[in-house]
Amino acid sequence: MPKVMKFGGSSLSDYRCFKRAAQSIKSCGAETVVVSAPGKRYKADEKITDLLKKADNHGIFSRRYRRLVAKRMRRIWTALKKDESVGIFPDSDAEFDAVLSDIFMQFGDCLLSRGEYFSAVVMSKILGYELVDAKEVIIFGDDGQPDLKSSILSAKAVLSGRNAVVPGFYGADKTGSVRVLPRGGSDITGAIIAAAVGAEQYLNCTDVPGVMRADPDIIKKAQAVGCLTLCQMYGLALAGADVVHPDAAKILCGGNVEMVVKGAFSKERGTVVSCRNVCACGAEICDRCKMSRKMPVADYKAVYQWKKTSSSGAISHSNFTAAAVSGRDGLIAVAYDGDCESKAAECVLGTLAAQGIYAESAYFLGSGCLMLKIKSPLVTKALRVLYGAFIER
Ligand code: ASP
Repeated sequence: MPKVMKFGGSSLSDYRCFKRAAQSIKSCGAETVVVSAPGKRYKADEKITDLLKKADNHGIFSRRYRRLVAKRMRRIWTALKKDESVGIFPDSDAEFDAVLSDIFMQFGDCLLSRGEYFSAVVMSKILGYELVDAKEVIIFGDDGQPDLKSSILSAKAVLSGRNAVVPGFYGADKTGSVRVLPRGGSDITGAIIAAAVGAEQYLNCTDVPGVMRADPDIIKKAQAVGCLTLCQMYGLALAGADVVHPDAAKILCGGNVEMVVKGAFSKERGTVVSCRNVCACGAEICDRCKMSRKMPVADYKAVYQWKKTSSSGAISHSNFTAAAVSGRDGLIAVAYDGDCESKAAECVLGTLAAQGIYAESAYFLGSGCLMLKIKSPLVTKALRVLYGAFIER
């Protein structure tokens, strides 16, 4: 069964990263590769997509940003061409020149998509794979949104049986014009392709070792989670774990593809995200892991009564997997063993209430994920409380 591999921008930030990414693709044997635009090389750097966005926003004053993009692209291309071990043919320049001329000529969605297109040109040359334009794969409907059914059908028709590199983050509408997905959308491209080609694995390679148990910017010692269900991944991503776009988990939910979120250049296994995962108690939960199940916590005000010393007994650290928060929206997602639903809600809500943090709403998302909404300024405190109480091991 085929494998699909996606590389995020932080794993393709300079020419060395492209080389290393190509080596891991070869050793993994992935047939289809999805690439993002080159990301930041260091903290204060700018992603190519951000520079393209600035260029697009600055109208006639956009030249400065367009030049910066062209300079970075040229630097990557020239270094790879000079490197004999890479073996890019001298006659490949025409394709690179076409990308550069787009950088100076295009506007809007087409301009925004050129970072991914550049990455795909480069990666296809290094690997000797075909370059398949995302315009042939991701189809947008009349409502301006990607049409999942049509995209899966065309991805299957175009990609099956081929070794191909596809640019992430964009597709085309019925008129053939480029349309971009939301930011971080290469994850969505990868998920659509993985579902379409019936991949056994969708390796989502990024700059962290996996899905972390909590935001590492807030909890420095947080480690990667071993496995999650797609529902849990969806909830955590909605609540701010931006390692994977929530729609990527949603698209794969209910199917057979196993998504592995892992460090691009790390030997660690990463986080295995799949409907086939079992919860901590050992029960299979795939058939219950339905995204449509969004159930309010019954009378969540009453469950604030939970006390650590109470007879809730059976629940312990091993029942909780990860928590994520989104500062902007005041969302909190807690992933837990799907078999201890009501206890999980009691523990989480009760523990937060003991610290003066009350949820405005609470619901279960599928099985194994509790979503809460609290006042935005309290989210960091809430994450620390939950991590200390349940997730730290
Ligand atoms: N390059 C785009 C972004 O920065 C899409 C992606 O990386 O998935 O959001």
